[in-house]
Amino acid sequence: MSPEGSLSIICREMTLLAHQERDLPPVFVESQRPGRVRPGGVCFPTKMNVYTVRITTYFERGFKMLDQDLKRQLAEVFKPINAKIELVYDDCQHDKQGELIELLQGVAETCHHLELRKSEKVSPMPSFSLYRDGQTTGVHFKGIPGGHEFTSLVLAILNTAGLGKLPDQALARRIKGLKRGLKVRTYISLSCENCPEVVQTLNQFALIHGDLTHTMIDGEFVQEELTRLNVQGVPSVFVDNELIHVGKSSLGELLGKFEEKFGLPDTDAQVAPSDLGHFDVVVVGGGPAGAAAAIYSVRKGLKTALIAERIGGQMLDTKGIENFTSVPYTEGVELSAQLDKHLRAYPVTVLEHRRVRLVEKAEGIRHKLQLDSGEFLVTEALIVATGAKWRELHVPGEKEYLGRGVAFCPHCDGPYYKGKRVAVIGGGNSGVEAAIDLAGICSHVTLIEFNDKLKADAVLIDKVKTLQNVDIISYAKTKAIAGDGKTVVALEYEDRHTGESRKIDLDGVFVQIGLSPNSTFVKDVVNTNLHGEIVVDPRGRTSQPGIYAAGDVTTTPYKQIVIAMGEGAKAALAAFEDRMRAGA
Ligand SMILES: Cc1cc2nc3c(=O)[nH]c(=O)nc-3n(C[C@H](O)[C@H](O)[C@H](O)COP(=O)(O)OP(=O)(O)OC[C@H]3O[C@@H](n4cnc5c(N)ncnc54)[C@H](O)[C@@H]3O)c2cc1C
Repeated sequence: MSPEGSLSIICREMTLLAHQERDLPPVFVESQRPGRVRPGGVCFPTKMNVYTVRITTYFERGFKMLDQDLKRQLAEVFKPINAKIELVYDDCQHDKQGELIELLQGVAETCHHLELRKSEKVSPMPSFSLYRDGQTTGVHFKGIPGGHEFTSLVLAILNTAGLGKLPDQALARRIKGLKRGLKVRTYISLSCENCPEVVQTLNQFALIHGDLTHTMIDGEFVQEELTRLNVQGVPSVFVDNELIHVGKSSLGELLGKFEEKFGLPDTDAQVAPSDLGHFDVVVVGGGPAGAAAAIYSVRKGLKTALIAERIGGQMLDTKGIENFTSVPYTEGVELSAQLDKHLRAYPVTVLEHRRVRLVEKAEGIRHKLQLDSGEFLVTEALIVATGAKWRELHVPGEKEYLGRGVAFCPHCDGPYYKGKRVAVIGGGNSGVEAAIDLAGICSHVTLIEFNDKLKADAVLIDKVKTLQNVDIISYAKTKAIAGDGKTVVALEYEDRHTGESRKIDLDGVFVQIGLSPNSTFVKDVVNTNLHGEIVVDPRGRTSQPGIYAAGDVTTTPYKQIVIAMGEGAKAALAAFEDRMRAGA
């Protein structure tokens, strides 16, 4: 189990709770990064009431019981609970049963509305369920939710009490529109960083739906079941013996998949698509560009909506951020929570967990947006800030070691590899530039190109060839990224001349095979370049009057947070200026 991971997840959830106006007190912190946060000190609420929370958990310290600091923090988080919530565990002879009871007892002690009791059932492995006011909720855990899943337990308790961040009404209606009687199971491992979001989302499905159950199952306890089901990655979501989903996911994506398989066509959710109204400005995208655009627009007094699959965008996939000017160190989840908090401090209509599917021209210069959910809305000005995705290699090890040896952003993550051996995959301009940059930081860089020669500009190729600590391997196909369970240790590739497999021992791999802008849904409406980036002028205007774009989805160079924020602000100001000039 990675203490750092559970720390950051608890940190994220605590921050999310704080930004929902729940008054969390300052909490005790112990620095993860010596010198940056005062050890044992308290962290301070900012003006916006966002707390920077770094909790030292018992997991981090290797304690089996909840320590006093964590109990105090849980007591504060659970303070608003106003319903009887029972943690009901099954009878079990497993030698880990004591550990489960100890954990649940520790949690129950933090709030007088929480009660621990034994069920009548017998189970071969430690397991328990959540009840509210004597009724089962459909939320079950098989295993001991420590590690990354501890937050899933905390959130499940809060959500059972009707607290915490729950899906909005329209999403709840869609969840209720799923078939009755579904028994959903998610196989997880306690060291998996992508599992809690899936577990927490499906727990919310169970709580909202009323006739759907969700069970988190720690794979460690059910090895034979994993083999029988051929589970090869976590989180793996099953309904009966059918695999519904594997890997990282968001509420929007999971709901879409469930609706596809288990949606009931004649429910409220499917009846006539809902009209979300008419706005002055609609921003698509909830990353730094979109958030800045929405805040600047609403501050001009414009009726503004923001639609996003996930608030924070790529920042949610980023661990340490050290170049967000004026903030020496923060983490992606923390900065995303602050972005969310800042957005919601204004009357912006935030439509989260939704995708825009289509942009159509409406009457005059208005635009009509169709969402995946079936909802639609009309706007005078549209700001597209849908960002981009790094192109992936799709080889074994890439996803598993993301952030633990696999990196996509040399500007961001290069300094973490100081004095280490790395490979850069991709011999285009970005790959060769990355190799040159990293050669100044790392002890050795291997640049790997799929074709027989590098494709970068000649000046870059000349430069990289002069560097003593850079080796270039051409005509090589990356086959796998190998790790030791914690971090990357080697890269395997095929020599395309001979077909032989080769291995390089190293500490990190930077994938530089390009960015893929999320512009498909507007590509027929605005001009894009060869790479799919939306072409913008210096004010963020696109080829289509009334449509603006900002951030990584555009032709603006250098894909970075501060740049995306600036561009988002600029596009909003341009939209406002054009509106003034048009006399609206
Ligand atoms: C691993 C990693 C580490 C990084 N580290 C750093 C760093 O340390 N410092 C730095 O400055 N930069 C860093 N970056 C780059 C930085 O995160 C991006 O430049 C920045 O997030 C771009 O912001 P954006 O708002 O343009 O797009 P994104 O952050 O990509 O946000 C796009 C938004 O659009 C939404 N969206 C997409 N399509 C749709 C749709 N059809 N409908 C509705 N919503 C949609 C997404 O859900 C998201 O909310 C890193 C990137 C990665 C991947």
